[in-house]
Amino acid sequence: MQQTAISWSKVILTGIAFGIPAAIANFYLSFTLYGNVALYMGQFFVILCLVWRGLAPAIVAALISCTALYIYTDNYSFYILLILELLALYWLFRKGIVLLLGDLIYWLLLGGPIALFYLSQALVLPTDFLLLVYVKLLLNGLLYTSLAVCVLTFIPKQWLRLQLSSASRRLSGRIFYFSMICAVIPSLLIGLIFTARMTDQIENHIKSDLMTKSERINLATQDFVEHYQSALASLARSFEQVQTDSARQELVRTIYENYPGFITMLYTDAEGMLQFGHPDSVFTVIEDVPHDERSVADRDYFAIPKSTGQRSYVSPAFKGRGFGEHPIVAVSSPWYLSGEFQGVVEASLDLYQFAEFADRIDLDDSSQFVVITDANQDIIFASPELNLEPLSEYDPLPRLNVYTGELPLTRQSGQDFLFAYHVNELGWRTYVLSSPSTITALFTSNMIILLTGLLAVGVLFLVIAQRFAKNITRPLEALSLQLGKRPDEVVEPKTEDMTDEVQVIAFQLMEARNLMVSFNQELKTQVEEKTRALEAMNVKLEQLAREDGLTQLLNRRSFDEQAKKVYLNCQRHKIPVTMLLMDIDYFKSINDNFGHPVGDRCIIGVANLLKQHFKRDSDLVARYGGEEFAVLLTGQTDNLNDRIDQFRKELKSCCRIDDRIIPMTVSIGCISVQNDFELAYLQLISRADQLLYMSKNAGRDQIQFDII
Ligand code: GH3
Ligand code: MG
Ligand code: MG
Repeated sequence: MQQTAISWSKVILTGIAFGIPAAIANFYLSFTLYGNVALYMGQFFVILCLVWRGLAPAIVAALISCTALYIYTDNYSFYILLILELLALYWLFRKGIVLLLGDLIYWLLLGGPIALFYLSQALVLPTDFLLLVYVKLLLNGLLYTSLAVCVLTFIPKQWLRLQLSSASRRLSGRIFYFSMICAVIPSLLIGLIFTARMTDQIENHIKSDLMTKSERINLATQDFVEHYQSALASLARSFEQVQTDSARQELVRTIYENYPGFITMLYTDAEGMLQFGHPDSVFTVIEDVPHDERSVADRDYFAIPKSTGQRSYVSPAFKGRGFGEHPIVAVSSPWYLSGEFQGVVEASLDLYQFAEFADRIDLDDSSQFVVITDANQDIIFASPELNLEPLSEYDPLPRLNVYTGELPLTRQSGQDFLFAYHVNELGWRTYVLSSPSTITALFTSNMIILLTGLLAVGVLFLVIAQRFAKNITRPLEALSLQLGKRPDEVVEPKTEDMTDEVQVIAFQLMEARNLMVSFNQELKTQVEEKTRALEAMNVKLEQLAREDGLTQLLNRRSFDEQAKKVYLNCQRHKIPVTMLLMDIDYFKSINDNFGHPVGDRCIIGVANLLKQHFKRDSDLVARYGGEEFAVLLTGQTDNLNDRIDQFRKELKSCCRIDDRIIPMTVSIGCISVQNDFELAYLQLISRADQLLYMSKNAGRDQIQFDII
């Protein structure tokens, strides 16, 4: 339980550690620095946190970074977009898709469409601007992901929670991926900064254009109104000079003719009762109005000058009454006789006159419009394209400006407008509205250029990476092919295609190979020599194992082996076989008398003599013991007795030491198997031995024969 609490607090602390810089980056980079580019760079820290510290702290960091965006924009969709991005990246990453590609996939297929859906629901933006938002989100995502990948390559792998998978198994793929990351960051940064600066400049230009135009219209309207005000004020003064109504009416007519901006004119008595109106049509209307309805005492243009005594009054816009229903602005001045208030002269101004001022200041026909309001914010004049009713209230609410940094934005007749306004001394406002299309068009074209540029860079890098990879691998492949060949087939590798580094490696490898070949050759000769020596040794050993060292006759063991085989064969084929065992008589006394070496020479003498007498290929002769010998003869032995006699005879003088004959005799046991082949080999030996001892016992120098 405690363990879980600790790990959760660790997750939250890590999330906060990454989330705070993310929030600052979002806040600063998104809105302060490049307002109109709106880079959500905070996501860089969140992705860093995802790979470095894992999903859980990254979600905490994302929540913090989104909160910064939410506070600023009031737009909750960031929570959905950026946390979904995190989950998608994590999922794709675990599927083996590299970060940059994962982010591209996310913004193309999920993030972009979600953002567009939200924007189209919440803000009602034009389609081309939605496309722009889509491209911007994509580029923004690519930028902070590339930055994160770049930074992550500098963090030791063992520190990372998620192991960054290699971009590709192919060398060209890896070169392409890393060069793309390196290209995406600077080109996007430069592109976005330039775009931001350009749109800033354009915005400033639009701003000053709108401000100038609204100021000029403002001044023109003010001048216009003041001009008519002073005309009316002088009319009021002229009223004081004349005595008759007809003279006053004549004055009204004269002024009316000279000031075409007046639609109607009238004057009242001190109680506000209409006395006269011009043009005549208006006066006719006045005359038709019942007497008690002719009062304008309730109108401000009468009441205010009367009560305040101000020389000139301009009303807000209002609907005319009695003579015409259209909206008017009334200008009035009080007139006096001997200092006594007599009434007001009033004229209504044609609001459509203001269209002229708008025309006079070269508004961009298709994209700029004018709205003039009175002090009550009621419309005096509006460009007809805006479809605004005169006298309706106009108070454009600045909305969240998604296009630019500073200028306020409003929506009119389903269209967005950037606007600026001036207030004149009358409290009138002149708004000049401009469609943001200039900025969005610039932005869109810049983004498209940037995207196309990136695409071109991508294709270029793809080709370069392939060629570059081939440049590296081709010489190495050729080299490995060379190294795999037999020494006599090797041709020096072609060096003209190789880079200096590969050339050095090639030469080192070839040298190493030559060294290895000569070492192998030397090793082979040595092994051959050793094998030969070993074989000789083996022959010798075999011989030693088989032969008796002193006499070079077969020793007892190998004699028994061979004799047994021969005997078995003879038994099978009923071939006669004869076994002789012989023992030198009184050999001990030879040793005693002449010494051991002489004894040895005597043994050698007997052996040589046996070799001479029994030299057929099939004859087996062996030293069977110290001074004992065995002979096995196969086949018919017709003159065996003679041969043995001859042997015994020669034996007597076969051993000479310093011209001195060492007399020797042997006792022999001889068994010849002619018919009874039932006897086993050991029994054969044993019978021959018995016969030998019989010879010994019979006085030595004897031979005992037995034929079975
Ligand atoms: P017998 O007539 O009964 O065979 O008498 P013997 O003396 O020959 O027989 P004995 O068994 O008493 O002695 C054999 C002697 O042969 C004893 C031993 O020292 C000698 N001897 C055995 N092998 C060798 C050898 O390789 N070299 C020499 N010099 N003497 C040997
Ligand atoms: Mg003996
Ligand atoms: Mg003996």
